[in-house]
Amino acid sequence: MSNKKHFHTIIIGAGPGGLSCAAHLARIGKDVLVLERNKTIGSKVCAGGVTWSGLARHLPDELIQRQFNKQYVHSTWQKTIVQATDPIISTINRETVGSWMAQNATHSGATLLTNQLVVKITENEVHTKSACFTYDFLVGADGSNSMVRRFINVPTHLIGAGVHYHIPGHFPKMIWHLEPALFKSGYAWIFPHKDRASVGAYANRSDLSPKKLQQNLHHWMKKHGMNFKGLKAEAATINFDYQGWRFGNTFLVGDAAGLASGLTGEGIYPAVLSGETVAQTIVDPTYKCGKLNRLIKKQRRHTQLLTFCGSRTLVATAVLEALVTALKLKIISFNSLEMGE
Ligand SMILES: Cc1cc2nc3c(=O)[nH]c(=O)nc-3n(C[C@H](O)[C@H](O)[C@H](O)COP(=O)(O)OP(=O)(O)OC[C@H]3O[C@@H](n4cnc5c(N)ncnc54)[C@H](O)[C@@H]3O)c2cc1C
Repeated sequence: MSNKKHFHTIIIGAGPGGLSCAAHLARIGKDVLVLERNKTIGSKVCAGGVTWSGLARHLPDELIQRQFNKQYVHSTWQKTIVQATDPIISTINRETVGSWMAQNATHSGATLLTNQLVVKITENEVHTKSACFTYDFLVGADGSNSMVRRFINVPTHLIGAGVHYHIPGHFPKMIWHLEPALFKSGYAWIFPHKDRASVGAYANRSDLSPKKLQQNLHHWMKKHGMNFKGLKAEAATINFDYQGWRFGNTFLVGDAAGLASGLTGEGIYPAVLSGETVAQTIVDPTYKCGKLNRLIKKQRRHTQLLTFCGSRTLVATAVLEALVTALKLKIISFNSLEMGE
């Protein structure tokens, strides 16, 4: 008899994508295992911004750090304020929200094992250093450098990089700085949390190297009087090379599927939505994936815009100034830049 434990579905990665998928499957009685390499859930490099139209309105109030009805958008030539009655973006602590999502999944009946780096995948087995499990369905929720994606031979060419600092203090405004001379078609941000702010920058990696991105962020922070001496920079990649999410009995969600926005780097809500959709599809292969399809379309538009600008500063300046003017004149909404509904 085999000593390998069998699960209906094995999910690799306990980020927002993996945990939302696990909670949904477990709730309908499926035997689910989530394997996470880290000891703690949610220790992910992230600015922690969630949109009202995406995840924020589904979170309990106590998980929200700050909320902002106004977004300050500064470009090379213009400054504008986008305003709404609902908070446009809220900030969250990834570890707190991660623990809450992990509890939802385990209370629904999912098995979650932390400190379990997956080292090998085969057509019906998943190996960690100390154990082997078998599966009917496999879900790759293992982020932007996904092992599951490599296992099914889906390459990744379109990838962004983000770098940020946690700056202590009270920051009153949520600000986006679109400065193509420094960040091409990416941007720098100030996302305030309770007693600190995430201050960072994001850009398409093929337009700007991560090293140059960090140098330019330093230049920008100095220009804006922000002191990062003694603070540790945190950086990570964001995959926006979407090439599908169902591959036979193997599925990709979130960053593993390349579902983050190449333009804004927003990836938490796409991860949650795709996690839920994968769970529904595993249970019912005829499930209509309208919400996810709309999100994929929006993601494609973002990638097209990004590719059009490329590393050409002048083109990016023209496009981003047009975007800010359109926001100012309310021709487009902030929503059309986010991934929410
Ligand atoms: C600097 C920066 C700022 C960002 N800010 C925002 C923001 O404000 N708002 C937003 O929406 N998005 C933001 N993002 C993007 C966001 O963090 C990701 O898109 C999101 O976390 C993707 O969720 P996920 O569940 O797909 O993957 P992840 O959150 O990356 O989770 C993947 C999990 O898989 C685990 N894992 C990986 N490999 C293995 C393995 N072999 N075995 C076991 N476990 C494994 C990892 O440890 C991790 O816990 C930011 C990204 C960066 C880099």
